[in-house]
Amino acid sequence: MDFSLTDEQIAFKQTAKQFAFKELQPNAATWDRESYFPVEVIKQAAELGFLGLYTSTDYEGLGLSRLDSAMIFEQLAWGDTSIASYMTIHNMVCWMIGEYGSASLAQQYVPQMVNGELLGSYCLTEANAGSDAASLRTKAARDGDYYLLTGEKAFISGAGATDVLVVMARTGAAGPKGISAFVVDAHSEGIEYGKSEHKMGWKAQPTRTISFNKVKVPVANRLGEEGEGFKMAMKGLDGGRINIGICAVGTAQAALETATSYVKERSQFGSPIADLQSVQFKLADMLTQTITARHMIYLAASKVDSHDPQAGVYCAMAKRLSTDLSFEVANQALQLHGGYGYLNDYPLERHVRDLRVHQILEGTNEIMRVIISRQLLQEDGLEPLY
Ligand SMILES: Cc1cc2nc3c(=O)[nH]c(=O)nc-3n(C[C@H](O)[C@H](O)[C@H](O)COP(=O)(O)OP(=O)(O)OC[C@H]3O[C@@H](n4cnc5c(N)ncnc54)[C@H](O)[C@@H]3O)c2cc1C
Repeated sequence: MDFSLTDEQIAFKQTAKQFAFKELQPNAATWDRESYFPVEVIKQAAELGFLGLYTSTDYEGLGLSRLDSAMIFEQLAWGDTSIASYMTIHNMVCWMIGEYGSASLAQQYVPQMVNGELLGSYCLTEANAGSDAASLRTKAARDGDYYLLTGEKAFISGAGATDVLVVMARTGAAGPKGISAFVVDAHSEGIEYGKSEHKMGWKAQPTRTISFNKVKVPVANRLGEEGEGFKMAMKGLDGGRINIGICAVGTAQAALETATSYVKERSQFGSPIADLQSVQFKLADMLTQTITARHMIYLAASKVDSHDPQAGVYCAMAKRLSTDLSFEVANQALQLHGGYGYLNDYPLERHVRDLRVHQILEGTNEIMRVIISRQLLQEDGLEPLY
């Protein structure tokens, strides 16, 4: 097993880091404070291929592996957690349309999404269908060559600023098998957006409800067959969970770097606090946690890349572990800054606010444990995980 990076991976990381260093990190605090969604910078990222990292080259994506993509997302999140995380959602939507849409549907949308002309949102959650997403009630009723979409989605990242929605809606009976997925023009007649939610973190991207009132969606905009939507939504989320996890790791890395510099500069009781063994031990744990989190994500990403039947379980383990550890690292980095960590003159309070939601979305960390333990408790359930 070789843990060293290829020359190509090193180059991808460097390009992403340069972009994060120049375009994201210097602006992250302002965008957070002003709740500003920097669409123009996201479009700039498209020029480097960052909006279609693992989208097929058939549709002008880079066609990278999930592992390579994760390395890039990590660097972007080092610069701005909120924007990098939005880019991961866009990437997921782009990939889903390329993977499951007909060739003509994919050709219609995906190249424009890859080049940043169109931005995407992923619409699964509803007010009463969060963790239990399969109970969703948004309905798609067939009407000739169209479906009429009616219902309301909640907590949609990017909503109001995006152009293409992948919407999971009910076309059949109750349960997951009655759900289909559709590509919907975000500016269609009958769509209304709620107010931009006031959130704890991820302030540099909007989150809104979207209501659909008999929105006409061509039958050709359905992804796959009727009833396959929930499976696609979950496949999308496997990759999504790797991405959300690695964005947490990128943020933890940034917090660790900030804290390591700070403890060398900050003196109390006549010497730098870095001289205190309790501080050294805290930093040692933070580094260990960051590296552990990163490599658990790399493992899960490589399981997705190799189509391992247990990839979903690895993604759940990696998302749970990496987001919990990264949150802890950022929180400890804040603690090492004392009262200054609590001020927004430093980035730590933003990192903590931003990372909190990584433990909640794309499946809460409790739901990750449901997925993991469900496999473990099957007869011989541990066997395929060796
Ligand atoms: C900022 C933000 C952005 C988001 N972006 C998107 C988006 O772009 N698209 C989208 O579709 N969704 C999005 N979401 C929604 C997100 O995925 C849901 O919030 C999440 O899945 C949890 O659902 P819920 O909020 O309804 O919580 P609930 O499901 O009501 O859960 C409440 C609590 O109960 C626990 N719980 C529930 N069921 C179980 C169980 N079986 N076992 C143990 N514990 C359980 C949960 O872990 C949680 O602690 C976003 C959410 C936020 C906050």
